[in-house]
Amino acid sequence: MAAQIIDGKKIASEMRAELKQEVDRLKKQGIVPGLGVILVGDDPASQSYVTAKERACENIGIYSDDNRLPASTSQKELMSLVEKMNNDPKINGILVQLPLPKGLDESEVLLAIDPAKDVDGFHPVNVGKMMIGEKAFLPCTPHGVVQLLIRSGVTIEGTDVVIVGRSNLVGKPLANMLIQKKLNANATVTICHTRTKNLAAHTIHADILVAAAGRPNTITADMVKEGAVVIDVGVNRVDDSTKKKGYRLAGDVDFEAISEKASLITPVPGGVGPMTITMLLYNTVESAKINAGLEIE
Ligand code: NAP
Repeated sequence: MAAQIIDGKKIASEMRAELKQEVDRLKKQGIVPGLGVILVGDDPASQSYVTAKERACENIGIYSDDNRLPASTSQKELMSLVEKMNNDPKINGILVQLPLPKGLDESEVLLAIDPAKDVDGFHPVNVGKMMIGEKAFLPCTPHGVVQLLIRSGVTIEGTDVVIVGRSNLVGKPLANMLIQKKLNANATVTICHTRTKNLAAHTIHADILVAAAGRPNTITADMVKEGAVVIDVGVNRVDDSTKKKGYRLAGDVDFEAISEKASLITPVPGGVGPMTITMLLYNTVESAKINAGLEIE
């Protein structure tokens, strides 16, 4: 039976509509959530990510403080901008677009962000809080994956989850979120990576399989259990002469073949991708509420 497609665009747009209502309510109380954005250099991919984030803020009424700096920016200048945003009451979240140009120390910059404004959830304080199950800003992509599962009606509790990829950005935080002794967690999680001896021996047992390897066709249909939920985080450029740009975007899984076996599957594009920015907006609104002393979930 063909799998049902998890429509990330639709779920993200529903969440953004909810967030817009929340922002409208906050504005009536005189609270305007604000995101400080820092982009250094002229990397085209980073520029388009930042533009998309700023546009998303604007669409739901979040104030965004846009700072586009030349690649020649010094570490000192960057650190003082972060410090300024740390102290700016209009800014509830700080986003430093990565990667930074060569010569700039990324980890020093990320460590300098006030953990209370770390809406990307990369600061070790937030990573540690997440790990011990305390309230923290959760990193946007893995948090988006969890939201996709919940909003698609998938029961996470008691499932066997296999995650392919152990990056600090996706695999490790997602595993941490799903093993918590909490509602919408309580899963048994296996993390696989390039040193995993027999990848298929693990993936075939997954009730929920998450591919975050960054390599097309890492997961083929023979590696997937009948009826599994398959979440494809990967975004890869695959040569395609029929396309104007000469390439198309593909995930890490063989979408066509796996669609015949899975119960639910995310497409690429249009699956996890739209959720990442949505969760950034979510964290910024949460931060504004915390800052104003309001109750949060
Ligand atoms: P990453 O830092 O390159 O990590 C990839 C992970 O996958 C590593 O742990 C690597 O293992 C593992 N891996 C690679 N090939 C494998 C294989 N053949 N078998 C088993 N494990 C394998 O990548 P990332 O930042 O986590 O991103 C992963 C993918 O998600 C990328 O395509 C990225 O573009 C995409 N992504 C999408 C979004 C979104 O919003 N849609 C956001 C973030 C990332 P080792 O640790 O052993 O090297």
